[in-house]
Amino acid sequence: MDGTRVALVTGGARGIGRAVTQRLERDGWRVVVADRAPAEGMPGRFVEADVADEAAVGRLVGGVAGAEGRLDALVCNAGFMIRKPIGALSLGEWNGVIGTNLTSAFLLARAAEGMLRAARGAIVTIASTRAHQSEADTESYSASKGGLVALTHALAVSLGPEVRVNCVSPGWIDTKGDALQPGDHAQHPAGRVGRPEDVAALVAWLIGPESGFVTGAEFLTDGGMTRKMIYEE
Ligand code: NDP
Repeated sequence: MDGTRVALVTGGARGIGRAVTQRLERDGWRVVVADRAPAEGMPGRFVEADVADEAAVGRLVGGVAGAEGRLDALVCNAGFMIRKPIGALSLGEWNGVIGTNLTSAFLLARAAEGMLRAARGAIVTIASTRAHQSEADTESYSASKGGLVALTHALAVSLGPEVRVNCVSPGWIDTKGDALQPGDHAQHPAGRVGRPEDVAALVAWLIGPESGFVTGAEFLTDGGMTRKMIYEE
C-alpha cells in the first residue's frame, strides 16, 4: 500500500456519485465504486453490490480491506425515489426505498467503522432538500432522507473524534443533461439548476483536511431554493 487515500462511493457509476468519483480521482484519491451495474467509461474500481443487502455490504467492505487495505472516506450516495400516491404505495416499495436510501448507510458505517477509525477518516451522506420540504406523493423518499440527516448527526457523535460524519442535501441537480428551460434556471436564487460537480466539490471539502472542525452538520446545495418564500398569486 502506497499511502494513497481511499474512498468508497456508493451509486458511483452514474449521476452525482460518478461526479464525486471523478473529482476525488482528480484530487489524488483511489476510489472504489459500489453500484448495481457498471457504466461505460466510469472511473474507479467497480464492485457490483446492492448496498441495501447486509451480506453484500459485508463482502464489499471486506473486499476493500483486502484489496486497498484502508478506507479514509465513505460517501453514502446510492438512492432512488418512488413517486406514488400513498394509497398505491406497497410496503415492499416503502421498504425498498428505506433500505437503499437509509439502511444502507447504517450497514456501510457499521462495516467500515474499524477502517475509518484507523484512518481518522470521514463519512458523507447524500440526503436531499426533500428531508425538509415536499411535493405530493413522495413519502418514502422524504422519510428516508430525513432519517439520513438524523443518522448523520448520531454517527458523528458516536464515531468521533476519529471519524467526522456530515451530510450534503442537494436540491435540483441535472444529472441527465435534460433540456432545461430558462425558467428552470431563473427560479433559483443562484440563477441556475445544480450540476453534479457542485455536489462533488462539497463532498471533496467535507472529506478533506480543511473541514476538520465540521461534523454532524448538514449542508444544502440547492441554489437557494429552500430559502425562497413562494406564494401562488
Ligand atoms: P442516479 O440514479 O443518477 O444514480 C444513482 C446510482 O445509484 C445509480 O447508478 C443506481 O443504480 C445506484 N443505486 C441505486 N440503488 C442502489 C443500491 N441499492 N445499491 C447500489 N447502487 C444503487 O441518481 P442521482 O445521481 O440523481 O442521485 C444520487 C443521490 O443524490 C441519491 O441518493 C439521490 O437521492 C440524491 N439526490 C439527487 C438529487 C438530484 O436532483 N439528482 C437531488 C437530491 C438528492 P440503478 O440506476 O441501477 O438503480
